[in-house]
Amino acid sequence: MTLPHSAIVSKIFQDEKPRIGLFGATSVGRDIAPRIASKLKCGLTADCTELIIGDYLDRKTKKVYKDLLLQRRPAFGGNIIATIVTPDTLPQLATVREGVMKKEKSKRFVKGKVVNIDPDKYLNKTDLVVKVIERHIEENKLNIKNSSIIVAGGYGVGSKENFQLVYDLAHVLGGEVGGSRAAVDAGFIGHERQIGQTGVTVRPKLYIACGISGQIQHRAGMEKSAMIISVNSDPNAPINKIADYVVIGDIKKVLPQMIKSYKENIK
Ligand SMILES: Cc1cc2nc3c(=O)[nH]c(=O)nc-3n(C[C@H](O)[C@H](O)[C@H](O)COP(=O)(O)OP(=O)(O)OC[C@H]3O[C@@H](n4cnc5c(N)ncnc54)[C@H](O)[C@@H]3O)c2cc1C
Repeated sequence: MTLPHSAIVSKIFQDEKPRIGLFGATSVGRDIAPRIASKLKCGLTADCTELIIGDYLDRKTKKVYKDLLLQRRPAFGGNIIATIVTPDTLPQLATVREGVMKKEKSKRFVKGKVVNIDPDKYLNKTDLVVKVIERHIEENKLNIKNSSIIVAGGYGVGSKENFQLVYDLAHVLGGEVGGSRAAVDAGFIGHERQIGQTGVTVRPKLYIACGISGQIQHRAGMEKSAMIISVNSDPNAPINKIADYVVIGDIKKVLPQMIKSYKENIK
């Protein structure tokens, strides 16, 4: 998709001097955000997984910048979570992964301003190098991002057959099934259900992690869940540190007990 940018961006930003500009890390957001950053000569951090307003001390100059946008995202192949700041140029621009922001109801009435722009005034024919001939939208059959309960399985589940236990628990709880990348790579579950840095980001009310160690790349996609239960045979698994409840045991024993107990208690 080609978005004619320079003239339109100037028009949109000519009156406003925003400090922060956020875009969804969707295909449209990822396309337009760098064009705007380039036009405004400011920085842009792509694919943030967390945003915080905070102070930043520049160790070289000893200058403290107040209330900056601290843009957090995985870096170096996902091995660290980096905090990126753009202290000297405004606005501070970032694209943000879907699911990172909690959906909130607005507390105040916000009146928007509609800016009608006649694109023909600003565009040449050569700006439109891509023509959309047909739009084909396929219905998303999987509702993992909006599910309030997710039961996720990892490599510790052991096999595709054992994954049936994860599906059974999700079924009795009325939730969806997710998985770690190791479970996807092992062929236990489809890629569309992968949760984490290279999968989807979720924030359900309840996240049950079964046989998942909780590496940083997995946590990036689920640690904002309201409640986390970990089922793991290793008491020292990193996921246990962020879990609200930890069940130490073999998923083959624990999951059938959880299913049985839930079925008995809802009668
Ligand atoms: C660039 C990059 C991107 C990545 N993106 C993602 C991503 O999006 N999502 C993701 O998940 N990972 C991602 N990873 C991979 C990540 O680093 C881990 O390798 C992966 O999350 C591990 O998956 P796991 O916890 O299922 O497996 P393991 O780390 O092997 O953990 C298995 C766990 O199961 C437990 N266990 C074993 N047997 C049992 C049993 N019988 N009962 C109960 N518990 C048991 C073990 O104690 C262990 O804690 C990425 C890696 C990189 C480098």
